[in-house]
Amino acid sequence: MSTDDGFRADWVQKDFYGELGVKKDAPADEIKKAYRRLARANHPDSHPGDTAKHEKFKAVAEAYDVVGDPAKRKKYDELRSLHGPGGFRPGAGGGGGFNLEDLLRERAGGGGGGFGDMFGDLFGGGAGGGFGGRRQQPRRAQKGQDVESTATISFTDAMDGVTISLRLTSEAACSECSGTGGKPGTKPRVCPECEGAGYVVASVGGGFSMNETCPTCGGRQLIYDEPCPVCGGSGRGSSARTIQARIPAGVKDGQRIRLRGKGAPGENGGPAGDLYITVKVTPHRLFGRKDDHLTLDVPVSFDELALGAEVKIPTLGGAPVTLKLPAGTPDGRTFRVRGKGSTRADGTRGDLLATVKVQVPAHLQERARAAVEAYREAMAGTPLRANLFEQAGS
Ligand SMILES: [Zn+2]
Ligand SMILES: [Zn+2]
Repeated sequence: MSTDDGFRADWVQKDFYGELGVKKDAPADEIKKAYRRLARANHPDSHPGDTAKHEKFKAVAEAYDVVGDPAKRKKYDELRSLHGPGGFRPGAGGGGGFNLEDLLRERAGGGGGGFGDMFGDLFGGGAGGGFGGRRQQPRRAQKGQDVESTATISFTDAMDGVTISLRLTSEAACSECSGTGGKPGTKPRVCPECEGAGYVVASVGGGFSMNETCPTCGGRQLIYDEPCPVCGGSGRGSSARTIQARIPAGVKDGQRIRLRGKGAPGENGGPAGDLYITVKVTPHRLFGRKDDHLTLDVPVSFDELALGAEVKIPTLGGAPVTLKLPAGTPDGRTFRVRGKGSTRADGTRGDLLATVKVQVPAHLQERARAAVEAYREAMAGTPLRANLFEQAGS
């Protein structure tokens, strides 16, 4: 099993310092020099067909991959001091699996990760009680994963704030096989391809080599002859949980909000991760949104603008208010109704921006028509568009 920090259960049986011909306390630059020298001397490109040199090259690359990396080297040193060289032999006799599990527990304790749990059911309580003296380190607390989600809420809920139920699905170990990928009840064996390392060393030329996840066991170190019927051998499953999330008042469409501690649970007493919700807000039929303000188009008649009027308009979730249009109000003017907009983070509210729009009747009743015709007669000769032609001609 490959992990974040590159831990491999088989490190304990390998003498990486000896492989590189350096002392256990050698400084990093000395280790680097030793590796370069040995990699050059044993490079497969320079010695085609020389299996011994090829093996040495791989061993040197693997050793440097660990002790050339400060974090891995620390891990390796810890592991070796715990178990001692030769203290662990994978695949040696029927109890080898239990040794591996023991190591994985140590790994979960020192490096943080739920790996021990994944295999706990598989190995726990099995035969081989001779390991009673194992050293259990306290597990390190680890923060849970951050989780991304989306939610669609109504315009009104976005204004007022709302508590929603979110069903979160996250990747987890397959519950049937506890993440091992094997059919429950069947016994694993150490992967023959990587011999339990979980990776293979591949030369990439130029004196460099890389560790690749073992293609046979997928890095799990163990293989099962019968795959788990639920996950098909992948070991992956999902877990779902429902949480209550408070969406604050005033959230905007497309906004990504962070809910601290609502992500995946932490391990070993660590804090939970955070939940990020991208909020979609369905549009309102009437009201629009402009920053913290609400917008509203108000249909008015020509005479209301020309003569002035008091116009009653709705607010979102509150009592109607009256707009006082002064005589001679131009079409398209926006009136500001303070405090009737969206709630801000500090609890104050934006404004309602009401824009008047003249409506022209499709049909006029007889009296109205006569009045408009009289109006036209009265306005005859007013050069409304004279300006257009002056400016267009220049
Ligand atoms: Zn393998
Ligand atoms: Zn499974």
